[in-house]
Amino acid sequence: PEAEQRLYAQIVGEDPMPRRRAIAKTITLLESTRPEHRLRADELLNALLPHTGRSLRLGISGVPGVGKSTFIETLGMHLIGQGHRVAVLAIDPSSTVSGGSILGDKTRMEQLSVHESAFIRPSPSSGTLGGVAERTRESMLVCEAAGYDVVIVETVGVGQSETAVHGMTDMFCLLQLPNAGDDLQAIKKGVMELADLVVINKADIDVNAATRARAQITSALRLFGHHGNPEHAHHDENLWHPQVIQISALKSTGVDDFWRTVSQYREVQTRSGRLAARRRAQDEAWMWERIDAGLKARFRAHPAVRDQLAGLSSEVRAGRVAASVAARRLLDLFN
Ligand code: GDP
Repeated sequence: PEAEQRLYAQIVGEDPMPRRRAIAKTITLLESTRPEHRLRADELLNALLPHTGRSLRLGISGVPGVGKSTFIETLGMHLIGQGHRVAVLAIDPSSTVSGGSILGDKTRMEQLSVHESAFIRPSPSSGTLGGVAERTRESMLVCEAAGYDVVIVETVGVGQSETAVHGMTDMFCLLQLPNAGDDLQAIKKGVMELADLVVINKADIDVNAATRARAQITSALRLFGHHGNPEHAHHDENLWHPQVIQISALKSTGVDDFWRTVSQYREVQTRSGRLAARRRAQDEAWMWERIDAGLKARFRAHPAVRDQLAGLSSEVRAGRVAASVAARRLLDLFN
């Protein structure tokens, strides 16, 4: 516990150099697959908990090449200029499947990555998407405890990872290119419904296309407002219409507008109590995910279950025992 006490003191302390190192070390502990590391990380997280929750948690998503890195670099430097401290975390779904990386090398954020008011961490590089998302969420809490008041969680547009980011942030922003095919993809996948804010990037290339895209997306979002899934009813029509704005991350235009919109949303959410409600719901969902995972692990490790599992599995595969019957027998053994 002495090592953890030092990490704790450095994370909540004022000195920026040991702080950044301590955050990195803590995240490494979190990502470790060794149970004793996990136990130490849990203790540390629990101690840090009272210092968490004071940041703006911003999710940013979009297809490869849409300009996420460029935008985060521009936005991050803008925010640091206003006195904020910015942490950037990532969920890279490709790493969980292929060990490869779509999000790529974050040193592309050239200025931000070396700035002492920024902390950038690439995606955990292995595990299931659920595991990667959980590590990222916990890393977010560590960054908050260390005083980063804006935490950006970035992901690529492949559906599930966007849902994961939506499930851990206060505001989910979807970056789009100024052409309609791209919009249709996002609408089809249901990702657009998650967005609190849609940002059309690269408006410098074709202003007309960007304006057309803005009109199209705005009307698509209205449709969700009326007929959309009530699960996503944080878009209470009386409080907030998901906004669509145009920017150029490369030319740094529209960033003010972006941040003004984010701040307005924050204000509305806080005043209405919806921010607190969203976070409470997220916390509870995370607890259940952890319980589900834990139960499954214990189930598999249970001696009586271990005895029967392989045999019953092959009976099911061979079509000799119904899946439901096998499941019930195994669950009964687990009591
Ligand atoms: P990511 O894959 O979403 O992280 O996209 P990047 O930030 O790496 O950007 C992909 C390419 O688009 C790079 O060559 C950027 O320079 C370029 N890019 C990003 N934002 C803009 C923009 O606003 N305007 C223009 N013209 N190019 C941009």
